[in-house]
Amino acid sequence: MSYVKGLKCRECGREYPANILFVCEYCFGSIEVAYDYDKIKKVLTRQEIEKRPKNMWRYKELLPLSKEPSDGLTTGFTPLVRSHNLAKVLGVKELYIKDDSVNHPTLSFKDRVVAVALSKAKEFGFRTVACASTGNLANSVAANAAIAGLRAFIFIPADLEQGKIIASSIYNPVLVKVEGNYDEVNRLCSEIAAKYKWAFVNINIRPYYAEGSKTYGFEIAEQLGWRAPKHIIVPAAGGSLVTKIKKSLQEFYQLGLIPEFKTKLYVAQGEGCAPIVTAIKEDNEIIKPVKPKTIAKSLAIGNPADGFYAYDVVKKSGGWAEAASDDEIINAIKLLAETEGIFTETAGGVTVAATIKFIKEKRIPKDESIVICITGNGLKTQEVVADKLAKPLKIKPSLGSFEEEQKKRPTADHYSI
Ligand SMILES: *Cc1c(COP(=O)(O)O)cnc(C)c1O
Repeated sequence: MSYVKGLKCRECGREYPANILFVCEYCFGSIEVAYDYDKIKKVLTRQEIEKRPKNMWRYKELLPLSKEPSDGLTTGFTPLVRSHNLAKVLGVKELYIKDDSVNHPTLSFKDRVVAVALSKAKEFGFRTVACASTGNLANSVAANAAIAGLRAFIFIPADLEQGKIIASSIYNPVLVKVEGNYDEVNRLCSEIAAKYKWAFVNINIRPYYAEGSKTYGFEIAEQLGWRAPKHIIVPAAGGSLVTKIKKSLQEFYQLGLIPEFKTKLYVAQGEGCAPIVTAIKEDNEIIKPVKPKTIAKSLAIGNPADGFYAYDVVKKSGGWAEAASDDEIINAIKLLAETEGIFTETAGGVTVAATIKFIKEKRIPKDESIVICITGNGLKTQEVVADKLAKPLKIKPSLGSFEEEQKKRPTADHYSI
């Protein structure tokens, strides 16, 4: 049974049946999925959710399928880690890390959106899926298409990290490196999507795809014991995730699954590609596109599709935004690893670095609950830290050699933030 009422324009509110549509035919506004919450309220209780398997489909009434899900059946319900070590370094009382660096199958939060997109693509009868990607989406579409037996066309900027390219190629999709940045890849893909009858997960079926991100927020609330935290720090590329975390908490509140929802949302971007951060800081709702130049390539979208909506939810929530330089990103990746044992990619470095700034600026008080969104895995972006780490000791296979080298070892640095 489906709980979807239909599609709705985010600008003019015009309603449409749940077909393949991504811009409003009247005002060109973007389209989102609308649900019948009264009907959902009757079936979706805390007890019902808790009985279900620990994957993202435990919230399936709030996802836009007409049939049972067929993709991403092992995706989601990643750990919400209570941080003690990093919390101590930052001087805060209640800190959590929502860790999608271990999401299944491809180690990023994109497995959530792809789970919904491919399940929906199959409902619509597509045999070929495609995407424009900054890396993680490519990995996830390639892997999930392999599982589903669908053909995949994947378009990426040519200069992506080696780890992201191999982690797509291994599934044997048609991988297309475009000599240009993500915004150029995306423009090309819009043209291709208009001509070929493929399910472009983040173009023509984007309204469905984007709903998958809500499960990240649902899980935060459930794993906190059915409550919303006071602060959530979210990395932004196209800006969709932060808006869907907001929608997830709003829906849980509306359904009576959490008692209140006063969460402040914060956006984090790389300094060399921070159009949403700039808009928030300058209080200018018009997003000025930029040419990306940052090591945080998964976030390197210069003209973010959901930029205005991200700006809007952050402003209305009372949150803020910060950008991180390349050095700050690297230091933050190391800090998270050394304190919590979590190896995140550059996007996670951006989030941790921005969090440090919010705390220093006293925008986030030290005694309130904070959730940091870690959305991707460091094994995919190893080159950014490879020559920034302590070298292993190199010894002869003898006790003497070990003790001699051990004596020369520099004493460990202490963190300072
Ligand atoms: C895509 C991505 C994001 C941001 O997603 P948007 O919804 O486009 O803002 C964050 N982190 C990682 C690791 C990503 O791959």
